[in-house]
Amino acid sequence: MSTENKKVNVKQEAADILAKLGVDSAAYTGGDLASFSPVTGEQIGALKTHSAADTARMIEEADAAFRTWRDVPAPRRGELIRLLGEELRASKADLGRLVSIEAGKIISEGLGEVQEMIDICDFAVGLSRQLYGLTIATERPGHRMMETWHPLGVVGVISAFNFPVAVWSWNAALALVAGDAVVWKPSEKTPLTALACEAIFNRAAARFGADAPKGLSAVIIGDRTIGEVLVDHPKVPLVSATGSTRMGRDVGPRLAKRFARAILELGGNNAGIVCPSADLDMALRAIAFGAMGTAGQRCTTMRRLFVHESVYDTLVPRLVKAYQSVSIGNPLETPALIGPLIDKASFDGMQKALADAKAHGGKVVGGERASVGSDTAYYVQPAIVEMPEQAGPVLEETFAPILYVMKYSDFDNVIELHNAVGAGLSSSIFTLNLQEAERFLSASGSDCGIANVNIGTSGAEIGGAFGGEKETGGGRESGSDAWKAYMRRATNTVNYSKALPLAQGVSFDID
Ligand code: NAD
Repeated sequence: MSTENKKVNVKQEAADILAKLGVDSAAYTGGDLASFSPVTGEQIGALKTHSAADTARMIEEADAAFRTWRDVPAPRRGELIRLLGEELRASKADLGRLVSIEAGKIISEGLGEVQEMIDICDFAVGLSRQLYGLTIATERPGHRMMETWHPLGVVGVISAFNFPVAVWSWNAALALVAGDAVVWKPSEKTPLTALACEAIFNRAAARFGADAPKGLSAVIIGDRTIGEVLVDHPKVPLVSATGSTRMGRDVGPRLAKRFARAILELGGNNAGIVCPSADLDMALRAIAFGAMGTAGQRCTTMRRLFVHESVYDTLVPRLVKAYQSVSIGNPLETPALIGPLIDKASFDGMQKALADAKAHGGKVVGGERASVGSDTAYYVQPAIVEMPEQAGPVLEETFAPILYVMKYSDFDNVIELHNAVGAGLSSSIFTLNLQEAERFLSASGSDCGIANVNIGTSGAEIGGAFGGEKETGGGRESGSDAWKAYMRRATNTVNYSKALPLAQGVSFDID
């Protein structure tokens, strides 16, 4: 069901918001990188891209800033992030709407993304007084052993289009509190929101005062070639890269080659399992949000669903009905739940996957282009596909709203099937049976970085560590102890005795 697309002037609205947030129009007019709004398909900006030389200069500046910033006490560094959180609170409505304009999210999800930025700032402020190391018992008398966490250097952040602002903040809030500088390369599909974040950060830095050095946080605009400069630069000891597994396959080895650290946050192929005892009303809602929300363009989107044969004929027709009746429309002007795909390439990828699914015996409902009054925007009816088995496109991530549904009968077997894909990001089980729930969370259960019970696969909070295993890249960011990746650990042993006993009883006596 599509909702009528009223006339909106996205270009003017984006310009108004950017002006209000303090972005100079010269930064996004007359340049060589076109930015589009997927809401209508119109071009809304032409940004000046940075050259490789510009990028190298900004990394050098960030390195110089780091050398000052690392000596600012961590709780004082936290004050900068407290101010950033305040600025984000004041800008939430504007930045959230700009996310909707540039990434196509429905308004509540655009606002939710900014709320995540605020949440991670709050978390990082507390963290600025908790960068704890351990004190460790030593075997040598009159000695003390401890570990200290030190700032690391310049952190490179590469981000994807679908979380155009939150991913920067997950990294930047922790990195800045940890005493690092940040150079961010946003997706070339969502550069305007990055300019907005830069302006918001600059406001916080101006309020903070002179001990926030110039170059502490920088944004480089361009495509993957600029990202490669960041990845290869010797003064960037850590790159946190969020995007496709294809990107990670290139970035990971390049970083390894120069012994730099990587936080890789890559693609997902997330599944849910609905067991015989599941609360089906709850499962239905969770699956609908997990699979159709953000038009299927979340790394944590539910893409595979295994339903026990005893509840299949009750649940699946209800799901199909939800797919057929969900509202699709312009997220700026309607209360629709499903906004557009990011671009035509995404639409084409979806059609290809659906054709492939049919060739593998899939029964497809939905997937057609939905008319919302613009030839240059790509809205789709989300697709639900009943598959005879897990094969073909089901094994891959297609970044669009397609849910593959499969019937299962044996619990051990469904766990095997669940884990039999390349990605390992998010997972969920719907059951009221304690044995099934605990088995799913156990060592022989889900092999994903995120495993949930009676909750869908998407919509994580910032308090937990976020990331996944296998082809998802193994990185963790956001909450828990993810901050440790942004710092270097030194083990310190202090001898306060008058002797020099050696560890392991080794003797080495010289006259
Ligand atoms: P993408 O891989 O096309 O691009 C992501 C970013 O990487 C962009 O900024 C791009 O310019 C840059 N890039 C691409 N190749 C590069 C290279 N060789 N060197 C340096 N930089 C390079 O991804 P996308 O289409 O923007 O986003 C969708 C993908 O991101 C999906 O696969 C999704 O699952 C994944 N994603 C993962 C997470 C996560 O946390 N695991 C979060 C969001 C999105």
